[in-house]
Amino acid sequence: MNKSTQILHSIPTDPLTGSISVPVYQTATYVQQSPGVHKGYDYARSNNPTRKVLEDLIATLEEGDAGFAFATGLAAIDAVLKLLSAGDEIIAVDDIYGGAYRLFTHVYSRFGIKVHYCDTTHAENILQYINPNTRFIWLESPTNPTLKISDIKKICALAHAHNIQVVVDNTFASPLLQQPLNLGADIVLHSATKYLAGHSDLVAGLVVCKTPVDSEKIRFIQNASGGILGPQDCWLTIRGIETAQLRVERQCENALKVARFLEHHPAVRSVYYPGLVSHKNHSIAALQQQGKFGGVVSFDLKKNTTEAATRVVTSTQYFKLAESLGGVKSLCCLPAEMTHKSVPAEKRHGSGISDSLIRLSCGIEDAGDLIADLQQALDGILHAEVLHLKSQQQQTQTVLS
Ligand SMILES: *Cc1c(COP(=O)(O)O)cnc(C)c1O
Repeated sequence: MNKSTQILHSIPTDPLTGSISVPVYQTATYVQQSPGVHKGYDYARSNNPTRKVLEDLIATLEEGDAGFAFATGLAAIDAVLKLLSAGDEIIAVDDIYGGAYRLFTHVYSRFGIKVHYCDTTHAENILQYINPNTRFIWLESPTNPTLKISDIKKICALAHAHNIQVVVDNTFASPLLQQPLNLGADIVLHSATKYLAGHSDLVAGLVVCKTPVDSEKIRFIQNASGGILGPQDCWLTIRGIETAQLRVERQCENALKVARFLEHHPAVRSVYYPGLVSHKNHSIAALQQQGKFGGVVSFDLKKNTTEAATRVVTSTQYFKLAESLGGVKSLCCLPAEMTHKSVPAEKRHGSGISDSLIRLSCGIEDAGDLIADLQQALDGILHAEVLHLKSQQQQTQTVLS
């Protein structure tokens, strides 16, 4: 079945009224007939019918056993980390989302969880970090913001041979392009803030487990820790997901066109986009992402300074300067100064995040307009350089004469 059809028709109409839109159950509790006898709902932290629709929807999209909705993507990550105990270890992709790095480093390290960072773009690299305490391989593919691709299927095979589970943060690809559970992963999670909700109007997180055993554990943690998503935001996320396929397709088309334009602009040093044949793991991405490469493109400048990059991101008109990605409106950001500031400079440079790296989230605007916007912003720094050179020459001439 086509994904759009599947999405739209797996969302139930309201059995009580026939309402075609999912009702928002704005309630804290549910009246019981006698103690413990109720309609399947007892308290809104434990369960809510609006949330249930969203949770079932994401489980369907990721083809997993059950889904769980959390207040933010980081709350989803936090819930998955609570599956671990002191002494357990994680092997994580080296340019992991900055917020996950912060949570690992400044919170979970204090509870005895150790994380090894690894360049997972070569699957075999994980082997050197495996020991009897390793519980999770933690992947993002594509990564944020350098769009590195890891071979999920291959890594899952290696991990499972050592009895290690694989967690995939699937935020960047979205289940429309990539279904990690079908590639062998055990748990998949999302910042639904990004492509799933898709309108930059809320924050939300989702987790899907492959097996009922893991689902039970996450369900317990969701209720025990309570970081759930409220019913209004569940409703907005459901509504976002209804149009996700259309949006993501347009975003992928736009991003590929933007990446091809950037590749040929004289102010640009490198372009990071898995859809370019020049990308190191282009063929893996093509295979595991169904031939589509996502809406995020990163690039850096020949003039590799924060100042030059700042000039670019403050002179675009359609690419608004803001954190986040995946929304209908295009955004741009400077990871070294914004999303990844919490990652130490050394580690940042090591994983390819230069000071002039600019991350673009392509929205659903017209590709020609987006390219024209980038063209004028990038031409601006070339003009600035020419003016700078001219004034230097004039100064030299004045000194000489
Ligand atoms: C944004 C993001 C997160 C965190 O999600 P929030 O909803 O902002 O808490 C996690 N992983 C990735 C890859 C992200 O881009």
